[in-house]
Amino acid sequence: MHLMKDMGWLEVICGSMYSGKSEELIRRVKRAKIGRLKVQVFKPRLDDRFNKVNVVTHNGDQTDAVAVVDSGVLFSLVEDDTEVVAIDEAQFFDNGLVDVCRRLADKGKRVIVAGLDLDFRGQPFGPTPALMAMAEYVDKLQAICIKCGNPANRTQRLVNGQPAKATEPTIMVGASESYEARCRRCHEVPR
Ligand SMILES: [Zn+2]
Repeated sequence: MHLMKDMGWLEVICGSMYSGKSEELIRRVKRAKIGRLKVQVFKPRLDDRFNKVNVVTHNGDQTDAVAVVDSGVLFSLVEDDTEVVAIDEAQFFDNGLVDVCRRLADKGKRVIVAGLDLDFRGQPFGPTPALMAMAEYVDKLQAICIKCGNPANRTQRLVNGQPAKATEPTIMVGASESYEARCRRCHEVPR
């Protein structure tokens, strides 16, 4: 990453589940804090339980975050002297997140967004694709296909161990289901 002075920008970290997006987001947040920059971290609030949460990765790494109900609330909570805004799980936000990130970068802030670029059907997911188009930097991370060991950029949803049908809803909070990283060849979406 080139060092840019006196300007903001947008960087996107995307990929399937288990591709290390949150680990990479946390790594960048930690480095910004080492550099004594003021950082705020946000994630979408998918239920009513907590405001203060952590971004926790599959390997247990974590950082403090604030859970917000939508992109408008996120924008209102960003403080004037904040230099770095990090946002995890971008795919669960409303499409207003795209304009919010543009405005924050225009105001001179470094905006780091992590999210799934594809849903379980292999289709563009929420605001992530538009954010990728607008970003100065995009890192598209690959997981490893659990079936064949190739690089994986798809997320396989399983319900009772069977591939989920394309007609099922995109977001199922709290449902009894599981996910795997799979490659193009091994990804299954029954019609
Ligand atoms: Zn595969």
